[in-house]
Amino acid sequence: MLTIEKYSFGVGDRFAHQAKAQLASCVQALEKGVEVVPVWNKSHREHTTVGSEPGSVRQAADAAVAALGWRKSYYVDADHISMASVEGFLPYSDFFTIDVADGIGATPEGSAVSDFVAKHPELVGTIAIPGIEEPFETSAAYVTEVAGKYIQAVRDAGRIYRHIVEKKVGTPFVPEVSMDETDSPQTPPELLMILAALADEGIALQTIAPKFTGRFNKGVDYVGDIAQFEKEFNDDLAVIAYAIGKYGLPANLKLSVHSGSDKFSIYAPIHRASKRTGAGLHLKTAGTTWLEEIIGLAEADGDGLVLAKDIYAEAVSNVDALCAPYAAVIDIDRGRLPSAEEVRGWSSAQLVAAIRHVPDCPEFNPHMRQLLHVGYKIAAKMEQRYIDLLQGCEETIAKNVTLNLYERHIVPLFIGE
Ligand SMILES: [Zn+2]
Repeated sequence: MLTIEKYSFGVGDRFAHQAKAQLASCVQALEKGVEVVPVWNKSHREHTTVGSEPGSVRQAADAAVAALGWRKSYYVDADHISMASVEGFLPYSDFFTIDVADGIGATPEGSAVSDFVAKHPELVGTIAIPGIEEPFETSAAYVTEVAGKYIQAVRDAGRIYRHIVEKKVGTPFVPEVSMDETDSPQTPPELLMILAALADEGIALQTIAPKFTGRFNKGVDYVGDIAQFEKEFNDDLAVIAYAIGKYGLPANLKLSVHSGSDKFSIYAPIHRASKRTGAGLHLKTAGTTWLEEIIGLAEADGDGLVLAKDIYAEAVSNVDALCAPYAAVIDIDRGRLPSAEEVRGWSSAQLVAAIRHVPDCPEFNPHMRQLLHVGYKIAAKMEQRYIDLLQGCEETIAKNVTLNLYERHIVPLFIGE
């Protein structure tokens, strides 16, 4: 059994040059007395876009850990894998994010729904959960409806989990199940039923990533009702604590917040909830580091600034193609995107101020930032020119990568301000 620590922090490194700078943020937290362990995540989609292999993530992580003398745990996450994409990750990963969102709403196999309802009479009626003000009132019809929506996804998770167990032959790993990439959020009563069903599948679940209420757009702040988020987040924590006891799930089971970078306005509620209950947390970031690469390039001035402007020029002339796959998780007003010509004339400080995530800075432009977030394909196509400048501008890039993760993420989430 591999048991993930209370606080873990997912970091994504699309071009495999920032692992050291990312790890430095966890080193800084440890110096403050707070252990936050890094989990390097990269999905099949990112590997395909960039043209990299799962082994490269393990290599970069191991090298960073050796370089900084990190003695705590660290993990390599096979991010959002399915049965179709898991194979290449098996030799290198010790954390598996089993993504079963596609199975939500799928027609259940055979008697799966009636079996679940028959097995769980405790889910019908009044369910009083410590920490939740109003008990859940449920009917058999409601449990049947929820099972009908989620049971196939849960069965898929069980199949993939058992496949990983079999292939890892005795090598322990941390299993996560994710359901975030879907249209509607899962409510706390739904989460309880999903956890009961995941326990039935025998999954030694350590983290679960539901879809939360509100919008988690890429690279920018949370959009939604913060009070409602806080209530649901707290209710989810209570549901998890209850399900651990009731269904024998691992005692360290915790929530995983996906698309978690840059959601500054919910960090205080999350931190409060964790402080109050003692609950752990996994928060996943990825593209925020790629944006810091562009910021670091722009800040380096000279060739770095030219490259950053070239990337923007390419992005702004391909808005449709770049945004299409991310339509559900970005919110770009095209009227607020400056032209490539205009940006050509900008100074280093102007471009940095436009894309660095300081929401109350008057020059900050969330539209440009989101567009660049989904534009990493452009840098991938530049191949060696991009990599050479990542190396040439390493100093300014690394400084921005570490500062962004530590000051804007780790401090408010795990340490408290
Ligand atoms: Zn996700």
